[in-house]
Amino acid sequence: MIQVSLESAITLYFVITTLMIALPWVYFLLLKKKRTKPFSPVKLHRCEYCLSSFLDAEARKIPRCPTCGSYNTPSNS
Ligand SMILES: [Zn+2]
Repeated sequence: MIQVSLESAITLYFVITTLMIALPWVYFLLLKKKRTKPFSPVKLHRCEYCLSSFLDAEARKIPRCPTCGSYNTPSNS
């Protein structure tokens, strides 16, 4: 049987507990960095018909208003 002093057992307990928390945390932190998408252009449009503002993440040539469904002329802003 392995002889372990009380101080060593307490130290070992805290080291193992800290590693059980820190290792998954670092792993998921690194995984999250890999999953971030590169910058994609998002344009802000204002509907000509209902005047609601919306974002067009796909940067389409003719943006469509999600509120009224109308097609808008592309803006240069
Ligand atoms: Zn609209």
